[in-house]
Amino acid sequence: MITGGRELLNFCSNDYLGLAQSLDVTAALQESAAWQGVGSTASHLICGHHREHALLEEELADWLGYPRALLFGSGYLANLGLLQALLGKDDVVVQDKLNHACLLDGARLAGCELKRYPHGDIESAERQLQSRPEAAAMLATDGVFSMDGDVAPLRELARICKTENALLHVDDAHGVGVVGPGGRGSVAAQGLTSREVPLLLVTFGKAMGTYGAAICGPADVIDALIETARPYGFTTALPPALASATRRSLSLIKNEPWRRFKLAALIARFRRAARQLGLPLLDSSTPIQPLLVHANAEALRASRELQERGLLVSAIRPPTVPEGRARLRVTLSSAHSESEVDRLLDALAEVLKDHLMPPRLAKATNR
Ligand SMILES: *Cc1c(COP(=O)(O)O)cnc(C)c1O
Repeated sequence: MITGGRELLNFCSNDYLGLAQSLDVTAALQESAAWQGVGSTASHLICGHHREHALLEEELADWLGYPRALLFGSGYLANLGLLQALLGKDDVVVQDKLNHACLLDGARLAGCELKRYPHGDIESAERQLQSRPEAAAMLATDGVFSMDGDVAPLRELARICKTENALLHVDDAHGVGVVGPGGRGSVAAQGLTSREVPLLLVTFGKAMGTYGAAICGPADVIDALIETARPYGFTTALPPALASATRRSLSLIKNEPWRRFKLAALIARFRRAARQLGLPLLDSSTPIQPLLVHANAEALRASRELQERGLLVSAIRPPTVPEGRARLRVTLSSAHSESEVDRLLDALAEVLKDHLMPPRLAKATNR
């Protein structure tokens, strides 16, 4: 990627499988636009719902094992729409403190009560559900957490949702395409299905390399979303060519597992070397590999020094992460080569030399 006239090696995109640049996917976009035009020309409810949209919805639902899927303009809009349509002022949504901002904003739009439990703390989540036994309740969590790269304890969350009669919604923006059998995401990775996790958000802007999103769920919920989710009905439908490109991405995810295998090998290579160097890794098995430096100024300095070395790694600071938890957020992609990952590791060892942990300690804190 080119920044300021200079070519930089990109380690902060969410294009985990290199599909944003895939010739197959760009060709699908171009071919579709050539005969269907660029814009969808209306909302889904008027005349913006094209055949490509319907096919993508069917293919997603079928692949992920859900009764239905419904397209939204983006993941942000999908979470707003889902929460606004399903929850009202007498209801409650219980959320992990590290959930993505759009799940919090969805609760605001719904006007329901929002309770947040400490990251991954199942007992707190259970207590929060129990505190409002009379209310309709949803528990919403990221599947893979976007800034930490760790995965939610979905089996335990599914168990408490069952006993507390709450609806479980998993936002798997960073999981689908990357983790689990066949790349089917965090729910499948933990051996769960649409029975235990009735609602699932898939976004297309990450591993799929395109743009847009879908909510997968039961038919009655999808019908309710079509009728009442304002961020569904009152906005122009995705360009059909984007739906077509996303269908091609989906077929590559199904038919070219080497992308996922190569990504997994790069993640293992990165973590092994990073541990040996004593880099301040978090406990993540996904392509999101944050390096915790704590102070905002340090994160900015390290990011700047990496850029001087031709590497693009973003500094993430509050409010995106909690105070005192500033970091470099490295993301790996199957489009990277081993030697590019090695080049990143060498540069990280230099710019983070004041943050290194003794290798044994680093190993202990990362299991
Ligand atoms: C990126 C992201 C979203 C938003 O998806 P967009 O399609 O980019 O709007 C929602 N949830 C999580 C966890 C994300 O990482």
